[in-house]
Amino acid sequence: MKKKIKGICRICKEEKELSFEHIPPRSSFNKGRWQSIPSSKYYQNLENFLKEDFKYKGKIKQGGIGEYSLCIECNNQLGANYVNEYKKFSHIAMSIISEEKHSKVKCFQFDISDINHLYFLKQIIAIFVSANSPEFTESYPELLDFIKDKESNLLPNRYRIYMYLNNEGQIKNGKFSFTNKHGVICEFTYPPFGFVLSIDNPNRIMEVSEITNFKYYNEYIKKLEKAPIMLNKYPTYYPFPLDFRELNESM
Ligand SMILES: [Zn+2]
Repeated sequence: MKKKIKGICRICKEEKELSFEHIPPRSSFNKGRWQSIPSSKYYQNLENFLKEDFKYKGKIKQGGIGEYSLCIECNNQLGANYVNEYKKFSHIAMSIISEEKHSKVKCFQFDISDINHLYFLKQIIAIFVSANSPEFTESYPELLDFIKDKESNLLPNRYRIYMYLNNEGQIKNGKFSFTNKHGVICEFTYPPFGFVLSIDNPNRIMEVSEITNFKYYNEYIKKLEKAPIMLNKYPTYYPFPLDFRELNESM
């Protein structure tokens, strides 16, 4: 029997039956086996987790990672509007970086002229909204306005979005955290991508590529034959935000 879960939908904010939202989308390599490790355990055993041959004896789950965070209507809306752009880009990126594991190559260039930058950006914001509690958007309501209106370019300058490539280390869940260096940060990592949402930080985060300008995607950019983007690939062995040290680099 399918279990029914009621709660507040992160997007429409109504109390409804919630559906399982795959974060990232199922079509973007998120349907396999996975293990959930409580973060307290992860911190306590960090040294073990950082060993390449260490196997955590936990429950293995099937069917992809996600949360009961959206109602069926909002979940379907995302699927119809934005997921395909994310899927296209993630498949291109995965095919390229999967051949580069542990290589010295750190920076990759992609042509994303056939991807709708605006919808791609909205999908990323939707991931952050889905990954956090319903209260998150009480403080940041403009994020909801931006994803609810499919064609809106309005995303205030207090929000900056960055991305990188990833195929080594731990996934990161996109939840809100506060850092000394950058203030409010949400970081989400799931191969082949990592994303960073930075709020109220006027300084650019240098290690990662800023894609905030994807919000200005328009008819002119749509017609360009080439739209290059450069992305760095980073490992995520450490659970701290924007900590991209290699395994052999000391703490
Ligand atoms: Zn909803």
